[in-house]
Amino acid sequence: MEKNWHIFSDFDGTIAMNDVGAQLFINYGDQEKCRTAVDDWMVGSISSCEMYRRECATAAVTTEQLIELAHQQKIDPYFLEFYQLCSRKKYDTTILSDGFEIYIHYILEKYNISNLEVRANDIRFLNGTQITPVFPYNEHSCGRCANCKGYHIRQFRKKHPQTQVILIGDGFSDRCGAEEADIVFAKDDLLQYCQNQNLTYTSFENFADVIESCKKLRILD
Ligand SMILES: [Mg+2]
Ligand SMILES: [Zn+2]
Repeated sequence: MEKNWHIFSDFDGTIAMNDVGAQLFINYGDQEKCRTAVDDWMVGSISSCEMYRRECATAAVTTEQLIELAHQQKIDPYFLEFYQLCSRKKYDTTILSDGFEIYIHYILEKYNISNLEVRANDIRFLNGTQITPVFPYNEHSCGRCANCKGYHIRQFRKKHPQTQVILIGDGFSDRCGAEEADIVFAKDDLLQYCQNQNLTYTSFENFADVIESCKKLRILD
């Protein structure tokens, strides 16, 4: 019987070429305080919730500026082809992001991608230029992530025990997902993490590599 697959992909630095969440705070936050918050998160002394709370507290940005930032972004040139090949095989794709849904939404809209499920944190605008993070999935967090990808994959498996799971990612926020997936495509910090933890992974630079590997594995044709 043909295997059924579900794709869980990270967004920032994976589908989007940039880490848009990081760029948001580079453009509109206090550089030094945000750098310290990210460093504290990287070494594991704070969760991503705390990192985002601290970063958002330093930021001054309007909705229009955030939309403008989103519209400047580019996605991986081979992502759409990958997504279409998966759709043809009836494999669903879910974006799992420890970033924010608002810019993901505007970037997908720019590329006319409308039917992708997104599970992410979000941003609420307070008054004018003040923002605060919103964490819809934090109650299920492992303590390191605000939106733990491991949780979403475990939930998925309960409902779809016959379906194999692919995780594609580039960062520390993909760690918990990588530990749960059947196949991991990794680059940058996630690749480093997989090496350190002895997790099996396939390295990739862009979605052309993911397509090629999936064809070799007969997941795609
Ligand atoms: Mg990422
Ligand atoms: Zn986690």
